[in-house]
Amino acid sequence: MNVHARLAAASLMLMTVATACSQQPDKAAGPARAAPAAAPASDTHAFRIGQVEAVALRDGTIVLTNAEEQSPWSAVADVATVLTGNGVADNRIHLSVQPLLVKDGERVVLIDTGAGGEMGTENKLSASLASAGVQPGQVTDILISHSHGDHIGGLVANGALVYPNAAVRMTGAEWSAMQGDNELQPVVDLIRAKVQTFEPGASISPAITALPLAGHTAGHTGYEIANGGARLIYVGDALHSSLISVQRPELVNRWDLNSSAAIATRQSLLERGASQNLLFYGVHFPFPGLGRIERRDDGFVWAPAT
Ligand SMILES: [Zn+2]
Repeated sequence: MNVHARLAAASLMLMTVATACSQQPDKAAGPARAAPAAAPASDTHAFRIGQVEAVALRDGTIVLTNAEEQSPWSAVADVATVLTGNGVADNRIHLSVQPLLVKDGERVVLIDTGAGGEMGTENKLSASLASAGVQPGQVTDILISHSHGDHIGGLVANGALVYPNAAVRMTGAEWSAMQGDNELQPVVDLIRAKVQTFEPGASISPAITALPLAGHTAGHTGYEIANGGARLIYVGDALHSSLISVQRPELVNRWDLNSSAAIATRQSLLERGASQNLLFYGVHFPFPGLGRIERRDDGFVWAPAT
């Protein structure tokens, strides 16, 4: 089973769980995407990187039981130790989903697009974007870290582009992989005319540079946003969990396409973050995903920004 099939299987399972918990909107009632309602203030978090305005936009949460059939980490005993050691009592892995809005001069940039309501998430992105004062038609650039469903799931809805005026930008390697994936053809066909590819490490906009973070997918990339001496690293899925990925970066994650490359990337990213005291943005870390990597004993821990 390839990673998309696994994600789809996990998604089905999660939808079942979520429905059982009565937390999932009624999918049978029609199109999944309701008109955006006003998002609670807690679903957005505005901050600055130098003079550049940014807003964390909550999309939802993926909850995985720490068990072989749901979790990407097959080392369930090691993961249980991490969870209990950090006060997580329910033996579940909680992954928030929060795309990042960046206003870079004239550009209105959205980094990743959330899960589009799949994988048990709440599909809050459009409401969060509205709460940040931005209409979908105002987005000029969508930067994709990689083409898994919780990052490209919000690109299209009801057979149409959600952000009709935006260029969809990703690495050439990721676009090639997308076009070769039969399950993604409906999305590929809809975005094809909007796609602009770049090479790893390319300059994207005045403040944003693509940051090579190899291993998770064929063309996975992070983004570095720098302005006036301030700097933020969007880590993509080089780090999934603020607990497991940070404290046990060497554990194999089955969602990584190239496990050894992904582990090396994870370890060097943590090393760089800690040694340079860099501000990180974890797209799956507890909302709003901002914080720093600190050294503890022989390893690392996540220190959320306060
Ligand atoms: Zn992800």
